[in-house]
Amino acid sequence: MTKEKNILILPGDGIGPEIMEQAVKMLEWVEENSALTFNIDHDVVGGASIDKHGIPLTKGVIEKAKKADAVLFGAVGGPKWSNVDFNNRPEIGIIGLRKELGLFANLRSAIVFDSLIQASSLKPEIIKGLDLMIVRESTGGVYFGSPRGIETLPDGTRKGINTEVYTSKEIERIARVAFELARQRQNRVCSVDKCNVMESGLLWKDVVTEIHQKEYSDVELSHMLADNCAMQLVRQPLQFDVILTSNLFGDILSDLAAMLTGSLGMLPSATLGVKQSNDVIPALYEPIHGSAPDIAGQGKANPLAQILSLAMMLKYSFNERQISEKIVNACKSVLDQNYRTLDVMSKGMKEVNTQQMGQFILDQLKNVN
Ligand code: NAD
Repeated sequence: MTKEKNILILPGDGIGPEIMEQAVKMLEWVEENSALTFNIDHDVVGGASIDKHGIPLTKGVIEKAKKADAVLFGAVGGPKWSNVDFNNRPEIGIIGLRKELGLFANLRSAIVFDSLIQASSLKPEIIKGLDLMIVRESTGGVYFGSPRGIETLPDGTRKGINTEVYTSKEIERIARVAFELARQRQNRVCSVDKCNVMESGLLWKDVVTEIHQKEYSDVELSHMLADNCAMQLVRQPLQFDVILTSNLFGDILSDLAAMLTGSLGMLPSATLGVKQSNDVIPALYEPIHGSAPDIAGQGKANPLAQILSLAMMLKYSFNERQISEKIVNACKSVLDQNYRTLDVMSKGMKEVNTQQMGQFILDQLKNVN
């Protein structure tokens, strides 16, 4: 049975279009080699949208994104738009989309490919085989809670206020995302909070435990304090499968985990929303890196994070695990053959440009399958 999927492609700025071009090659291969067919729509966002429409995110793009089964996003921003009004900057393109689609769950994976193990600052025996996923709540917590602001006190000194707020509903919905994901992986969730010093952390732990008992008792659940988690990520990262955490802790821990892999150009991410009445979960897939204006247009960009974002889309939005794994394996295989873009280049390796890297991965897919 053919499965028809609507995909909105938003390459954005800087290296976005170059790396997206490589990902689209894989999409064409998927269409030829699976029961999926794609209705693909391309549009502009970020600086490219400012150039064309005067604003970084148009209503038209928002509507298309809402109708799509998934959005594949490149990156936005760059010095060309450094003088535009703050509320009209290119980054509003991605911030606005996340808001409009209600994307509350940010999924960031940290994977270490064997052939890039030397890029990590940790010892190979500690990092070998790393494949973890951080599920970060991304629309609540201290970044959005009120009261907030800076007040001047009667004695003339100032006070800065932010408030960590979580409702049980917000915790439940993000916990479900983590448990569902774990079922598709190694079936383990580690929930991270600061319940020893924060009431919101106490509630977090309670609600996660409750949902686990009621709906996900088949998944292994553990709890860890956020400070300990930071230490454990560096000491023994292989102990983790899915880490479930709040906006603030997720922000910090996901950057820490990303750096364990040593290469920004390799890491994909996803943000998910609430399941709609038509059973579609709004989802946006993008590399964790930015638009890298310093290397844009020079063929130096590593397209792997974008290609792996596509692999995530196939797995989590379209439930095509095998095809997704084939793409990941093709990436691994090309790295095993010692091909490298400049960002992960080392002595004795063969340097290739963005387009060549994409083509090698596609050739690998065609040859093996
Ligand atoms: P960046 O991630 O774009 O670049 C950081 C460094 O990593 C640069 O030296 C860059 O050349 C390198 N790099 C990044 N991706 C690479 C890749 N795929 N291959 C090879 N090298 C790569 O971060 P930045 O320089 O701080 O930001 C540049 C612009 O991107 C800014 O305008 C920022 O606001 C924007 N940004 C956008 C997003 C997004 O669209 N989601 C995320 C982060 C930053």
